[in-house]
Amino acid sequence: MLNHVELLINDMKLLKNIIEEICQHALKEYPDECCGIITGNDDNQTVHLCENIQNKMHAEDPLRFPRDARTAYFIERSLFDNIISSSRKQGEEVFALYHSHAEHEAYFSEEDVAAQTVFGEPEFPDALHVVVSVMDRKIHGLKCFKWNGENQVFYSEDCI
Ligand SMILES: [Zn+2]
Repeated sequence: MLNHVELLINDMKLLKNIIEEICQHALKEYPDECCGIITGNDDNQTVHLCENIQNKMHAEDPLRFPRDARTAYFIERSLFDNIISSSRKQGEEVFALYHSHAEHEAYFSEEDVAAQTVFGEPEFPDALHVVVSVMDRKIHGLKCFKWNGENQVFYSEDCI
């Protein structure tokens, strides 16, 4: 019984309308990757759509940013910080971060791990990381990942 309760507490669920919103965002940006932030808690969640400026980064510095927006995403840091600070003013924390993969499965790639970890530790260790896969202009899958501090890895999490 106790195990069951603990499982429920650990399970972070994305609300149905939030899943729909991020799927719509992924379809809209296809074949580029979309990206964004979800703030709130189990009962109230807000999607903050972010612009993927990876193409701009790639054009300006192809050595540092060898990929374009079809296989990578980049959120402008000041925009990212603004979303987080204004959400915190309203008592909302980062609940999840999301991005899409075009013509690739919903896995957490090495690049995704690198983007989320600075010196081996993630910036938001409690956040869900949602990856939406779009193939042939249709939603192909959605997976969530969460940081495990003990093992220092991201593992797949049930989020629907
Ligand atoms: Zn990715």
